[in-house]
Amino acid sequence: MLPLVWFRQLVLVIVAVLGISAVLHARVVQDSADAVNRSMRFDVSWIGAHGRIEAAQLEVYLARYAALRLPADAESAELYYQILLGRLDSWNVGGYREFLDSSPANRETFDRLRLLVESFETEFSDLSQVASLSDLLEAWRPVGPAIDQLGAEATTSAVSKAAEIRETLTGRQEVQNYLVVTLLGAGLLLLVLLLLQNRSLWRAHADTRRVADDFAYVASHDPLTGLPNRNALTAYNKTDRPIGHLLAVVALDLDGFKQVNDTWSHLFGDKLLVQVAQRLRALIRDQPGGLVARLGGDEFVIMTQSQNLLDAQAFAENVLVEVSQPYEIDGGKITIGATAGLALADDQRWDAMTLMADADLAQNDAKLSSKGSVRLYNATLRQGVERRLRLENALRDAIGRGEIVPNYQVQVDLRTNGIVGVEALARWQHPELGAVSPAEFIPIAEASGQIAHIGRYMIEQACRDAMLLPDDIHVAVNLSVIQIMQGEVIETVENALRNSGLPAQRLKLEVTESVLMVNPKRVIEVLEGLRARGIAIALDDFGTGFSSLSYLSTFRWDELKIDRSFVKNLGEDTLGLAIIEAILVMAKELGAKVIVEGIETCKQVQLLERTDCDIGQGFLFGRPEPIDTVRATISKGRVPAVPAIRIVEPTT
Ligand code: C2E
Ligand code: MG
Ligand code: MG
Repeated sequence: MLPLVWFRQLVLVIVAVLGISAVLHARVVQDSADAVNRSMRFDVSWIGAHGRIEAAQLEVYLARYAALRLPADAESAELYYQILLGRLDSWNVGGYREFLDSSPANRETFDRLRLLVESFETEFSDLSQVASLSDLLEAWRPVGPAIDQLGAEATTSAVSKAAEIRETLTGRQEVQNYLVVTLLGAGLLLLVLLLLQNRSLWRAHADTRRVADDFAYVASHDPLTGLPNRNALTAYNKTDRPIGHLLAVVALDLDGFKQVNDTWSHLFGDKLLVQVAQRLRALIRDQPGGLVARLGGDEFVIMTQSQNLLDAQAFAENVLVEVSQPYEIDGGKITIGATAGLALADDQRWDAMTLMADADLAQNDAKLSSKGSVRLYNATLRQGVERRLRLENALRDAIGRGEIVPNYQVQVDLRTNGIVGVEALARWQHPELGAVSPAEFIPIAEASGQIAHIGRYMIEQACRDAMLLPDDIHVAVNLSVIQIMQGEVIETVENALRNSGLPAQRLKLEVTESVLMVNPKRVIEVLEGLRARGIAIALDDFGTGFSSLSYLSTFRWDELKIDRSFVKNLGEDTLGLAIIEAILVMAKELGAKVIVEGIETCKQVQLLERTDCDIGQGFLFGRPEPIDTVRATISKGRVPAVPAIRIVEPTT
């Protein structure tokens, strides 16, 4: 390819040559025109020839008159004399005069001729008066040769001028020829250069287009799986859709993919993602308008067209079934589940981006409550998300504005009916939305990273409030797994104890089984650190988490809190009681106390009396109340013996 700088310089040179040639050409044309003009001006031989004819005619008529004496001949001779005089006058101006003046000899000959001719003026005014016509003829004879001499000179001069002009014209002609050749050559060169450059540009254009195509591919595809990425989805082509079909968008997320990465390495995780992508691709191969994309991490989106809702649901469920089949990686087998959200649109609402957002929302919702299933999008889900967002924003300043405070629910020794402790439960009074349950806002705080702040505040406030209660009353505070993983729990607790003056033995921390799912080693380190400082650790909601009981032996729990779901049906079937009794036996072996949560009726207490339960907690003994109310309850002393208890009958 011709370098651009060269090309520019060459074009400049050619344009300069063309310009100079054009100027030269104009000059040459002008010179030629001058030469032609000159040639016309210097045609003196022709002018001179006229005088010669007139002199000859005059001589003929004069001779005839002398011989025949016819008056007509005399008149003609007189007329030619006058013409000749006029001719001599005309020779003394313009081009002929220039010729005469060009040589002194010519001028002298002319002047002589003129004097001679003028000397016959009297005779030619009336020839009939001339005495001797033969003398006149004789005297007239030198006029002819003088005119001839001048004519010959004029012819010679004209011939040499003509030769000079011809030479000039020939020279110019040559220059013109050269110029034309130069112009043609330069034009041709310019044309060739333009063609070359055009070819180079065309090639550069083709290269650029190829590079742009490559970029477009990279920008719209996931390098790991080769699937289209989020960018590609925005360009999803609506026109492929057969009329009357629904567009179904399935947002898919693998369950527990993070654990796979953590346990087996990221390389292993990548291989799994590649295989998942292959299966998804195979699933949409025969689907009209099917497209599968990876949005990042373990998130995939599948777009397909369905006849109706049932078809779409069946397709989405089939996707989950296929994805959940075992994978062979590095010689071993692995199974992973997935959760999906499904959104559909008909002809009127055919916007892939909105549908994707809807499907994603449904998938997130399914993740929270029913992993491994397909959730169909509906408008209520969006309201839920909006409320969640609103709460998340409001949470940031809720503590600062004093909207979140701990309430306390009493814990009772089931043998003596004496209050032995309280559990701090966060209460949020939102200025517009009213009371928001911790079951709703704690997960939001966990997800948005605000739990550490709320958790710290709860520990500090609970320690301060506990100082208002009798010395033998302990306070239990709930700890979130996220809070533990974010660190600083031990420092927070130490500071809270130091600042409030509460002995560590009066503080109890409750964690749920889920903490051991995330990072057991790290969590157990923290819990042991707390225990080593004299703080009791309770396992909350025991029995609701996982089927595996292995975590019971991994940590020395001080208390097991039996979940209220086991207490709920006490009295209606014997199963609940049997489970509680089994847990009691196990707890005794582990050296842990047992607290039964959710006691609402006297009947439940009576049944529990038959067991060896230590402590009870529930609406029957008291609802979560502000510190002052609980303080007043505790100051009244023990709660009455169970059969007589009607102190706080459940209202809900
Ligand atoms: P949890 O720790 O298991 O707390 C016991 C829950 O059961 C409380 O619900 C309490 O009001 C309720 N409850 C107590 N007795 C009865 C009863 O007889 N019948 C019924 N139906 N319910 C009873 P609450 O206050 O809504 O708290 C729900 C959950 O929110 C708590 O469960 C705990 O996991 C979490 N939570 C509350 N406050 C905090 C906190 O400060 N930090 C953390 N991390 N979690 C908290
Ligand atoms: Mg609790
Ligand atoms: Mg509980």
